[in-house]
Amino acid sequence: MSMNKHNDFKRKYPLTSKWATRLNIALLFFHIGYLVWFALTGIRIMAIFNIFSVLLYTSNIKIIPKNPILGLKLIYFEILLHYLMAVQCVGWFCGFQDYCFSAVVVAYFIGYALDQDGIKGFNSTFFSLAALVVFVGCWIEAKIYPENIYYISSVLIESFHFVNVLLNVAILIIFSYIFVNKILAENDMLLHNAEYDELTNLPNRHNIERIKNSYHIDEPDGTRDYALAIIDIDDFKKVNDTYGHQAGDYTLQMLARKLEAHKTIRTEIGRWGGEEFIIWVAGESAMDILLEDTEKFRKELEEMELNYQGISFKITVSIGVSYAKDGLTFDGVLKKADEGLYKAKNSGKNQVVAV
Ligand code: GH3
Ligand code: MG
Ligand code: MG
Repeated sequence: MSMNKHNDFKRKYPLTSKWATRLNIALLFFHIGYLVWFALTGIRIMAIFNIFSVLLYTSNIKIIPKNPILGLKLIYFEILLHYLMAVQCVGWFCGFQDYCFSAVVVAYFIGYALDQDGIKGFNSTFFSLAALVVFVGCWIEAKIYPENIYYISSVLIESFHFVNVLLNVAILIIFSYIFVNKILAENDMLLHNAEYDELTNLPNRHNIERIKNSYHIDEPDGTRDYALAIIDIDDFKKVNDTYGHQAGDYTLQMLARKLEAHKTIRTEIGRWGGEEFIIWVAGESAMDILLEDTEKFRKELEEMELNYQGISFKITVSIGVSYAKDGLTFDGVLKKADEGLYKAKNSGKNQVVAV
């Protein structure tokens, strides 16, 4: 396979290429080890079987990138057949059948990786059940033919058993660790994306609603001491039209960074949508604090020189501010702030209007 094709595989199926390949290489080394061990201990059938296993895992290095499902199915058939044969050759007490435990975790991990990469056709539950069935099959086989093909000393039985349990647990730990951490990281990312705006990384509307609820606003015993400001960039459409949409995105990001600098312990900020942002102050004299702060913010933006790919330009903002007076609900305050914004826009923009 050419280097290019291999990179294609990595790019298209990042998880599968990484983990199926690693699993295959690990199993290759496992089987080389077993091949040597079986050869040294004179268990010829298993030594020969392991020659085929080593050949399989070597060819699989090429098969997996071309056809991951086929490669992974081959791995499973090899593993199941391996423990079925090993039980026949060296007996139940060497513990080769115990690999069905780790086979289950690996089956689900591989199923997950394939699923994330959008590859269908590998049924983890089927392979887990197959491992269980073969496990029971091994037990029946051992009952029907209690005599092993090879005579094995008790020391050798013990060492096989020890190594098999050790490797089993190692595989279980490694794959469970990777699996759980991957899923937790993914969960964190999903939670973050649900609550933060992708472009500016500010809390989004949904997050602001959640914060609002945490203050029990609009509930009889909830916070009444708060003020809200809605910020809207002036003539933002012109920024997009004149300098391009990406310059517009950059402007939003720069504004967000400036806004973050204004965040205090009593302040929440967020992107309300489009080119509109929100500042919310809670606690005593919220309105006074917010008026002072928004005026400062407006001035800072007026003076800020934006520079996108060598082109300099400036923006201004209009801001509407209001607070929870006369029994207004959160939505009522928001509407008032919006009125303020509307007035600011209609009287020349680039100003703060309190309502
Ligand atoms: P006004 O002073 O009255 O607010 O005029 P305006 O041009 O700022 O307002 P208008 O509502 O007409 O246009 C808002 C523009 O904001 C239109 C839209 O394309 C742009 N916009 C909204 N979200 C984004 C975004 O995420 N990125 C970029 N680049 N532009 C956005
Ligand atoms: Mg707007
Ligand atoms: Mg605007």
